[in-house]
Amino acid sequence: MKKAKGILKNAMLQVLSLGDAIQIVCRVAKNGHISTVCEKISACSGRILAKDVCAAEDLPAFDRSAVDGFAVVSRDTFGASAAQPSLLRLVGEVKMGERAGFSLADGTCAAVWTGGELPPGADAMVMLEQAERLPGGLIAVEESAAPGRHVVFRGDDVKSGEALLAAGTRLAAREIGLLAAIGVTEAEVFARPRVGILSTGDELIDPAQTPVGGQIRDSNGEMLLAACREADAESHFLGRVPDEEDALYRAMKTGAEVCDLLLLSGGSSAGAKDAACRCLGNLGELLFHGLALKPGKPAFAGKIGSTIVVGLPGHPAAAYLVFHALVRPLLATLSGGEIVERTARATLLSAVPSNEGREELLPVRLRDGMAEPVALKSGLLSPLTRANGYIRIPRDTEGLQKGAPVDVILF
Ligand code: AMP
Ligand code: MG
Repeated sequence: MKKAKGILKNAMLQVLSLGDAIQIVCRVAKNGHISTVCEKISACSGRILAKDVCAAEDLPAFDRSAVDGFAVVSRDTFGASAAQPSLLRLVGEVKMGERAGFSLADGTCAAVWTGGELPPGADAMVMLEQAERLPGGLIAVEESAAPGRHVVFRGDDVKSGEALLAAGTRLAAREIGLLAAIGVTEAEVFARPRVGILSTGDELIDPAQTPVGGQIRDSNGEMLLAACREADAESHFLGRVPDEEDALYRAMKTGAEVCDLLLLSGGSSAGAKDAACRCLGNLGELLFHGLALKPGKPAFAGKIGSTIVVGLPGHPAAAYLVFHALVRPLLATLSGGEIVERTARATLLSAVPSNEGREELLPVRLRDGMAEPVALKSGLLSPLTRANGYIRIPRDTEGLQKGAPVDVILF
């Protein structure tokens, strides 16, 4: 925590960059306790392994054929060709899922299908296409099979005792398949972060209600719930809070008790924002207040006990962009991992003016390698649904020209 405080000192003197803000909240998250759980592998997609997994057995557990054909003693086939085949006596067939039940002596062979066990004594396979059945139970082998040809030996894939997957690995379909293959049906993974969501503002009503007067439906609540779920976090809506310091204090206090991350939206107008930051200072500690970011200037963060608190702008599009840029990396850290953004290189379809002093998150519509800027008029929601990603324009950029190469961060 000492380090974060050091950064805070500087941060309060100048407005913080997005990069520094990400670092601060992620460092606080890393220094905190991240709990782990034992989960069935069917529930592990996207989760991060908290402990190394070692193989307790060989994979495969027996010597297997990689082709349909005949198991042979390889030296019996040396020198064989279509013109001068080796004649071997067929002594049996190995059924899929069964042990061979017999072994191969010199001069004999056995039919084995792909994935079937080689009988003891066999050390190579000859593909069906390279062999011919002759009358009298003889097989003419028309190629020379080197030892080990078309065979996956016991332990070739994974050896018993070997480290299979290291702690920190993100479990995806391929890893989960490997765990299943070796009989590991549960894994110790980092727990999903629990996120509590609070919407602040006197004007907000439930989306199911009909607004009267200057009321508006609370869209951030549902949007942030969905965004957290998309980020693999466990999210809960904790309610709407009026712009009133006592109510805010109580809601933040109880919210912080039940989650790892408390997300607030709204309260960016001068008075209300200060109230939220004051509450945070009273309940815990303010980490930063204000970002050199467009949109996202009013964002703040702090901690109450071990719970991290992030305040997002009220404007829905701004709230979403700051969520994507700042909160997703934080959620990834709270999940025991790191954010890996999906990006695409594209060509800017139209010029973008300069943005002195603040980094800008510019939503774009990416299509056929072209990135078309989507204007975010303050407070409008629908433009964001036309965008499928955004570009980060560094502060003090002289604007971007039409045709400039850009990296689009995909939603
Ligand atoms: P604020 O940050 O509270 O000043 O809010 C900025 C703008 O965003 C205002 O027009 C608010 O009405 C709007 N806003 C704040 N919270 C929400 C919300 N939960 N859902 C939709 N709009 C909101
Ligand atoms: Mg408000």
